[in-house]
Amino acid sequence: MSDANFIKLKENFICGHCGAEVIGTGYTNHCPKCLWSKHVDINPGDRAESCGGMMEPIEIETRSGNFDIIHQCQKCGALKKNKAEENDDAEAIIALAGEI
Ligand SMILES: [Zn+2]
Ligand SMILES: [Zn+2]
Repeated sequence: MSDANFIKLKENFICGHCGAEVIGTGYTNHCPKCLWSKHVDINPGDRAESCGGMMEPIEIETRSGNFDIIHQCQKCGALKKNKAEENDDAEAIIALAGEI
């Protein structure tokens, strides 16, 4: 209908889990240090979700060298898959993924 499904907002935020200051890229809302996210998007970057719950990284999926982080909302239980970003903490990803 429109391209309103993909609004790119670049805002910085403070991680609600570990308190790190996160520089927004517009595409991700997860913390590069602890990988926690916040349930604020329906479509990536739209900030249209009113839940606002903290999303715990529960699993890493690998596909052809890329990582996806599976987040689960602590408030409403929603599951979301987010692409890992280049600046994500590699140790945090490995710790979550276990053996790769
Ligand atoms: Zn964090
Ligand atoms: Zn939620």
